[in-house]
Amino acid sequence: QLARSEKQLLADYQQGSDESYLRRLQILQALPDAIVNRKLQLHYQPKMDCGTGQVNGAEALIRWQHEQLGVIRPDEFIPLAEQSGDILRVTRWVCQAALDQQQYWLEQGIDIQMAVNLSALDLQADDFAEFIATELRARHLSPTKLTLEVTESAVMADLEKAQKRLKELRELGCKIALDDYGTGYASLAQLKHLPLDKLKLDQSFIRGLDSDANDRIIVQSTLSLAHELKLQTVAEGVEEQAAWRLLRQMGCDTLQGYYFSRPLAAVEFEQWLKNEAPRFTNQNKKAITNE
Ligand code: C2E
Ligand code: MG
Ligand code: MG
Ligand code: MG
Repeated sequence: QLARSEKQLLADYQQGSDESYLRRLQILQALPDAIVNRKLQLHYQPKMDCGTGQVNGAEALIRWQHEQLGVIRPDEFIPLAEQSGDILRVTRWVCQAALDQQQYWLEQGIDIQMAVNLSALDLQADDFAEFIATELRARHLSPTKLTLEVTESAVMADLEKAQKRLKELRELGCKIALDDYGTGYASLAQLKHLPLDKLKLDQSFIRGLDSDANDRIIVQSTLSLAHELKLQTVAEGVEEQAAWRLLRQMGCDTLQGYYFSRPLAAVEFEQWLKNEAPRFTNQNKKAITNE
């Protein structure tokens, strides 16, 4: 008996439209075991205060190293997990693992805002907010230190349900961020009724910031609009110091990107906090004095 997504893959193959179908089929078949046997891992990427250069959070990003298939990137397996429905269990594992880490760090004196990514199906599950509430309570963690990142397409899949779910999560005290903003088709006008706290500008606008005048205009006007709507702003994909300087001039609140750090395993993240992070606050002081 083939699952729906496996049937879909088979159909793709028969149409000759998907040569990587075998790998995708293998990924789909291996996923349930990976979830149950804890073969998934989280990496953490720091978020920086744009004004001070201080760390103000971390985003949990899933990783999967498979014995035979090698590294499977989330961009490859998350869409498959969404098709098969496995994403519901993936997300719950991600939330639990990220909160375990947050609790452990708090015990070590590392107090950090944690962000996790949600998919469309998570927002449709009626018990999702209750699940989050239970997991937070079990670890004595503050809901205000948990950010849930959702993309526009996840929200648009069922706007009414998403709205309801995000409202519940926000009433708990969690923060909601709209991820990859600018890559979808919805306008801020359509999204204004969503209970949002933060807007994450997609990296495609940030990478060309230094060289592309159009990107600068798009980013500047999006930042202004977001601030008028009382949303905090986050820029992803900051790879160069020049982008930091420009984003500071434009009044962006938070930065994330390889310039500061790639996503790191928990222990590496702790090392980075100790050895690398202080560099950015100092660098920032120098930069401001020179501006
Ligand atoms: P996202 O949530 O927008 O995460 C940002 C992605 O950009 C991450 O890729 C991160 O490693 C990458 N990135 C960060 N800074 C830079 C930079 O300066 N330059 C470049 N080129 N890339 C940068 P990653 O970890 O491969 O994740 C890709 C996407 O997969 C995520 O995009 C998210 O949509 C999804 N994803 C990852 N983990 C999860 C998860 O636990 N659950 C769900 N539902 N989706 C996840
Ligand atoms: Mg994200
Ligand atoms: Mg993003
Ligand atoms: Mg993305």
